[in-house]
Amino acid sequence: MESQEKVCSSCGIRLVKKTETTFLCPKCGQAEIGRCMNCRDQSVHYKCPACGFTGP
Ligand SMILES: [Zn+2]
Ligand SMILES: [Zn+2]
Repeated sequence: MESQEKVCSSCGIRLVKKTETTFLCPKCGQAEIGRCMNCRDQSVHYKCPACGFTGP
């Protein structure tokens, strides 16, 4: 069973490739932020679902 599927926090695409990345929110450290290669390339802002922090 795949229970740890991750999605891009900016566009919602599923993260499955090694070129995509996840990291903990730099502000609260509670929520995991996902970023796909496309959003990284375009510097799309993300938003933390836990504290509402946004960043590049
Ligand atoms: Zn994305
Ligand atoms: Zn946060």
